[in-house]
Amino acid sequence: MKTNVLSTTPQMIRSRIGKICVSITGSTVAEMIERAAQATKETTFLEFRLDYLDKPLAALPKLKQFLAEQTAVTAIATCRRAPNGGKFEGNLAAELEILSKAAASGFHLADLELESAEALKKADFQHLRETGIALIVSYHDFKQTKDLDAIFKRMEPFEPDFVKIVPTAKSLTDNVTLMRFLERMNDHSNIVGVCMGDAGIISRVLGVRAGSAFTFAAATPGEETAPGQIAARTLIETYRIDQVDAATKVYGVAGNPIRSSLSPLMMNAAFRRETVNAVYLGLQADKLSDLLTLVNEIPIQGLSVTMPHKQEIMAHLEKTDPLSAKIGACNTVLRAQDGKLYGFNTDVAGIISPLERRMPLRGAKVLVLGAGGAARAAVFGLRDKGAEVHILNRTPETAAKLAKQAGAKVIKKEAVAKTAFDVIVNATPIGMAGNKAAQMLEAKDLNTKLVFDLVYNPIETPLIAMARAKGIPVVAGVEMFVQQGARQFEIWTGKPAPEEEMLRVVLHALKQKAEEPEAPAEKPKAKAKTAK
Ligand code: NAP
Repeated sequence: MKTNVLSTTPQMIRSRIGKICVSITGSTVAEMIERAAQATKETTFLEFRLDYLDKPLAALPKLKQFLAEQTAVTAIATCRRAPNGGKFEGNLAAELEILSKAAASGFHLADLELESAEALKKADFQHLRETGIALIVSYHDFKQTKDLDAIFKRMEPFEPDFVKIVPTAKSLTDNVTLMRFLERMNDHSNIVGVCMGDAGIISRVLGVRAGSAFTFAAATPGEETAPGQIAARTLIETYRIDQVDAATKVYGVAGNPIRSSLSPLMMNAAFRRETVNAVYLGLQADKLSDLLTLVNEIPIQGLSVTMPHKQEIMAHLEKTDPLSAKIGACNTVLRAQDGKLYGFNTDVAGIISPLERRMPLRGAKVLVLGAGGAARAAVFGLRDKGAEVHILNRTPETAAKLAKQAGAKVIKKEAVAKTAFDVIVNATPIGMAGNKAAQMLEAKDLNTKLVFDLVYNPIETPLIAMARAKGIPVVAGVEMFVQQGARQFEIWTGKPAPEEEMLRVVLHALKQKAEEPEAPAEKPKAKAKTAK
């Protein structure tokens, strides 16, 4: 019963598919078909997760009709059994029957778990092969990334058309293990490798860079079929997966937590606009040592560094610029031509340049709220420009220490209303989405020509609204966010940054976030714990 012979030779399939296969789920066949039709706007390579259906066999006639109409679609039939991490409660014989009938229904590939392949009788396996459907033998490890070569060896006897190996990353370094495996297998063009889990998100891009034949994506955010899966549109538009190859330079933002960072969106947009063959990833770095292994092994060409690693990373850099050294924090790492890592602080430029565009800073009287990392960049940067800086902080001792280090002054809350400032800079998280803390200043305290709130989500913070209501000009935190990123782009590429494009994508994302129901604030992951 060779129904698909013409379209299912591996060469033929490879010529039909791109780098993304979208996994289609649904609790009814109608839902599945609707989602599949929707997904074809992103890619025509689809995996139908038949195990999500109550009665997969009964769904095949409708799917057959869909595939007959959608001739551009290349379809994988997957009916993963529960013991292998799927939802199908039937036995191996039932799985085999579904996959065989899928072949007769126009599916081009069948996904068979290695455990199922090993458990099948030779004759039954042969029967599946004789249907003409191309075979993916797949292996999932929901706990770890280990023994990939040994797993591959177990798969080889089945002579699959594609091999799919999906371990779970518990650290960033596990992605390196997968990449090295894919690189070792360079002479095989039929291997698909990806790591599951939050720590493995980057493998969805790096796997393809290391030679994975394709990668899996969710149809939309919320329809993931594996932990860490990225939506197809994000892989295509943000990460430009179709253009990722061995020559693509890798950059990233490292921190904990990192999932909701807008930096990947902004920096990938900049790379796209300036046609730089580079990709920028979110690196969930619970431990600095894990991050440094990844940075050196890939190797990563540049890093944006956020909390909590801005100070600690300095000890691992060849050299930093004088301002980073004074502040004691660095937010930008460059791998220079000599292969060594150098540190910079573009937070300072992110704060200073929006102000300098509006007024001369020499002699300007500035109030900085807060004495943490962002405040340190503001205070040292402003002092460097000759401004007179006053610091107000919840913990007065920290303010006093910073004032002493930077040649600034501390100020008491009561004195603020009586003092005329040129600028007030908020460098605390107050006003940030999800932060319900009371404002440090009231309207009567805003005796200033300009208010700069470094908080960028939401765009319009309560402080900004308060200043506007008094007719005081404002600078939104998004300007700092774009400026610090623009300087990083320039340090890494030597090209002027496409600031307008960067601002456009960030504003668009922030507006979308404002329309979503309020998400709980992202908390750092505990050091000992790793990705699920
Ligand atoms: P940080 O190092 O944790 O410092 C936070 C500062 O805010 C500390 O001085 C802290 O006072 C003060 N603070 C925190 N909660 C407070 C509260 N409820 N009431 C009064 N003071 C409070 O954080 P950071 O890295 O400096 O970042 C601060 C904010 O700047 C971030 O939340 C972010 O919104 C913004 N930021 C923006 C950008 C950008 O690109 N636009 C970049 C970096 C940061 P204590 O000393 O008393 O703890």
